Amino acid sequence: PLGLTTEERALQARAAEFAATVVRPQAAETDRSEQYPWDVVKALAAAGFTGMTVPRAYGGQGASFLDAVLVIEEMAKACTVTARIVVEANMGAISTVMAYGSERQKRMAADLVLAGDKPAICITEPDAGSDATAMTTRADRVGDRFVLNGRKHWITGAGVSKLHLIFARAFDEKGRNLGIGGFLAVRGEAPGLKMVRREQTMGLRGMPEGELAFEDLEVADDMVVMPPSGWARGFGDLINAYNSQRVGAGTVAMGVAAGAFEHAVAFAKEREQFGRPIGEFQGLQWMLADMQTQLTASRLMLYAAARSRGPNGSAFPDPALAAQAKIFASEAAVRIANDALQLHGARGYSRELPLERMVRDCRMFTIGGGTAQVLRTLVASKILGWKLPQTRDGYVRNNPPGAA
Ligand code: FAD
Repeated sequence: PLGLTTEERALQARAAEFAATVVRPQAAETDRSEQYPWDVVKALAAAGFTGMTVPRAYGGQGASFLDAVLVIEEMAKACTVTARIVVEANMGAISTVMAYGSERQKRMAADLVLAGDKPAICITEPDAGSDATAMTTRADRVGDRFVLNGRKHWITGAGVSKLHLIFARAFDEKGRNLGIGGFLAVRGEAPGLKMVRREQTMGLRGMPEGELAFEDLEVADDMVVMPPSGWARGFGDLINAYNSQRVGAGTVAMGVAAGAFEHAVAFAKEREQFGRPIGEFQGLQWMLADMQTQLTASRLMLYAAARSRGPNGSAFPDPALAAQAKIFASEAAVRIANDALQLHGARGYSRELPLERMVRDCRMFTIGGGTAQVLRTLVASKILGWKLPQTRDGYVRNNPPGAA
């Protein structure tokens, strides 16, 4: 169904089998202990689920984004943390490096993800959230390198990720602003890269979110990721590459909801009240129908966004399709997971079952990686063909009166 090929269905089945045997048994403990699941990471790498999308020339399988989406959904049904690892080890920062990195950078990044690393992307700062270009982390040119200073927070994988793609405002030796650039650093080899603290999160508790400080972090020239458009317009290209991650994040949300839905269907058949299975009540039947309808719509939008990468040589999914898919799937997931919990009654609220964890886990996807509000502005901008800068004066500057 949904237009998958025999090979794609086989991959989906292999991922489901892996999720059932390796991933599901540890999911509750990962949530409880708040520990990164290193054993699962090892198994994911051995099974070829990390670095799948890396081209064969760099040791990967050259898998499509749709392949990654199929794997991510199966992992997310069982364990959200595992699914996010698969996202970052196949989309996101790795896509940016594969698109714009030098040969050496591509080899290094490929080797890391193939060995199971989940690269970290460092954009958000305490005073630069949705307004990412307000970032103040700076990279000053000193001799043959850049020296970075600043702070980032809510960095997924802080303290466990090796590869870091850090966004900072670059300045030349005369202190002139070059624009925002991407800088690579590897934890363990970069003394100026410091973990400050870990956030206390609602969900996804096995995945550290942390604050990072860069204290005279030295980045040599060959660790600067430079898109062909150069410094001035580079940030747009780097962010575009990173946006592929939205397809992955939307898929995690959808997968968690799909997992919750499976539990709800089983429970509706098995739990009896008033002398009949609760699934016989039309109120719950319609709830299940709405849940599945939203899941199918989410899946189709995510598949379409994933498939938009590749044709005509496009290195990334279409930004508007990716944004729409993430808005829809992340908002639907919150409703579906909540309804699945509701359908379980008190049992759904108990930590004995995974429903309450799923509700907590899927809540972040309308926030991280561009909020649902900011993504709507992106979609509107594509519809209208206008730039929609959100500063008070930006709209006037970018859309002079009378402009079409
Ligand atoms: P704010 O920008 O302060 O927004 C507050 C509210 O205002 C939101 O509801 C927002 O939608 C709304 N808002 C803001 N501007 C507008 C506007 N123009 N129009 C309408 N509404 C608006 N960042 C990284 O760099 N790397 C990561 O790995 C990473 N991982 C994350 C993981 C999690 C679990 C979470 C929750 C966040 C993560 N982030 C990461 C940060 C994330 O990208 C930001 O939280 C997000 O961009 C929003 O920024 P903010 O939290 O500062 O909210």
